Amino acid sequence: MERKIKLHDKSFRLFIPNDEIESAIDKVAARMNADFSGKEQPPILVCVLNGSILYTAELMKRLDFDAELLSIRLSSYEGTNSTGFVREVMGLSRSIEGKEVIILEDIVDTGATIETLVSMLMEKGAASVKVSTLLLKKDVYKRDIPIDYAAIEIPTRFIVGFGLDYNELGRNLKDIYVLDE
Ligand code: 5GP
Ligand code: MG
Repeated sequence: MERKIKLHDKSFRLFIPNDEIESAIDKVAARMNADFSGKEQPPILVCVLNGSILYTAELMKRLDFDAELLSIRLSSYEGTNSTGFVREVMGLSRSIEGKEVIILEDIVDTGATIETLVSMLMEKGAASVKVSTLLLKKDVYKRDIPIDYAAIEIPTRFIVGFGLDYNELGRNLKDIYVLDE
């Protein structure tokens, strides 16, 4: 486990080690298992590409109820700042009409992405939409949509690793790193 790393022009230092990430995911999975086991209709997990790939994989392994998986790709970030404008880059490959949906996000920052996504999925006919995120910037997030399952709350810093990138690098890191400023 490297304490300091460099990606492109920026330096990052270790922030959340992998064992802490995994135990936070254990706890979220346990809560979802309590809420969703015994339901008649399997919910649909919506993985928000690309950042949530590792979170989705780790979480899914821990779920003991039947669930389907769909992916969607949106874009709002350029470099280390949110543009505030969210675009759909790749849509869902199947109907979610009448289904219970659980969004799996890597990180909720301003909430622009999650707000757009929740209304998009409701418009597509989802019966309900719950939100799960690996990371929540709790001092920035001020929107009304409840974040039902947040694994880890973090301060307002730019982080990479465990799926999250800085201009496409850093997604493969097992630990989470913070921008060294
Ligand atoms: P929001 O729309 O909530 O402002 O931002 C959500 C998206 O911006 C996330 O899904 C993620 O892709 C990106 N994002 C927000 N904060 C960070 C961060 O600290 N690091 C990285 N790598 N991406 C972030
Ligand atoms: Mg994301």
